[in-house]
Amino acid sequence: MGEPRPRPLIAGNWKMNGRRSDGIALAKAIVAEAGSLGAELLVCPPATLIAPVGEAVKGTAVALGGQDCHPAPSGAHTGDISAPMLVDLGCRYVIVGHSERRAEHGESDALVKAKAEAALAAGLSPIVCLGETEAERDLGEALAVVTRQLLGSLPAGASGARTVVAYEPVWAIGTGRTPSARDIEVVHGHLRRELATLVADAGAVRLLYGGSVKAGNAKEILALADVDGALVGGASLKAEEFLAIARACP
Ligand code: PEP
Repeated sequence: MGEPRPRPLIAGNWKMNGRRSDGIALAKAIVAEAGSLGAELLVCPPATLIAPVGEAVKGTAVALGGQDCHPAPSGAHTGDISAPMLVDLGCRYVIVGHSERRAEHGESDALVKAKAEAALAAGLSPIVCLGETEAERDLGEALAVVTRQLLGSLPAGASGARTVVAYEPVWAIGTGRTPSARDIEVVHGHLRRELATLVADAGAVRLLYGGSVKAGNAKEILALADVDGALVGGASLKAEEFLAIARACP
């Protein structure tokens, strides 16, 4: 597109892992090295750890995010957390539409979109996740699936400054398997072109790849066209591994 590439974002999705002491120690180890890195670093702890990890990263180069939010700002929604509550704890980002939530909680594109819009309204940047299953890829439907998810999940008002999209093939999450470099480039290029029909500054929307990113494969993946960072699950639970991924950014 001829535009400068956006600053890479390396986001850690800690999922349902860690007790208070683990989370604080992990956050502190990441903070210790983060200042010297070119990439923006983000940690998304489980809800129970957002407050203590938020204290550990406050005023540092490491940003804080939630793993989900409810579409409503408050109310009778037992067990849920709203976007303004995440802001209250210092969050700047929230992951929405992760495939584990789509699968385990039956989240539809429409619900993911509503959550992303709630995030924007509260001042958060949503990280909108999408990706095909293995069966869909085998049927040659990967591009159709991610297009449908993008059109259905992207919030109204999305912009480069305030919206991130993460391509996470479901079959690559937590499996140690990744698509080929060519396959990642094809999907990311396709998403960029689709974004251009939806967002004025599509070139500035960070497109993350997620699914079994680790120190050993990060350099190749992060160098690919239209890959502006990574959403990292398992490898984000080890500070050295997570930092090595961040150091691999071009
Ligand atoms: C994820 O769940 O967002 C993810 C990418 O997990 P992993 O890195 O463990 O595959």
